[in-house]
Amino acid sequence: MRSLAGLPKAHLHVHLEGAMRPATLAELADEHGDQPPVLPGDFASFEDFMPLYRVAARLVREGPRENLLRSVREVVEDAAADGAVWIEPHVNRS
Ligand SMILES: [Zn+2]
Repeated sequence: MRSLAGLPKAHLHVHLEGAMRPATLAELADEHGDQPPVLPGDFASFEDFMPLYRVAARLVREGPRENLLRSVREVVEDAAADGAVWIEPHVNRS
């Protein structure tokens, strides 16, 4: 049986803000005077995740352009490291 790990992958509809590296989120939040979010390894519910997502979305939407560019670059790097050869990012602009 072939291992899935080595197969090329597509990452469709990846929410840029939700895929932001935790260290990047903490760093950007700190730089921009936002409340650095608590970064648990797991969330008990979607509602527990949403405050973190909202901070990330605000940093991408309202922060300097570099926040968006860095987020895109890192999400692509992380997906590529996982074997993705096609990525369709989604950015929340609302
Ligand atoms: Zn979605």
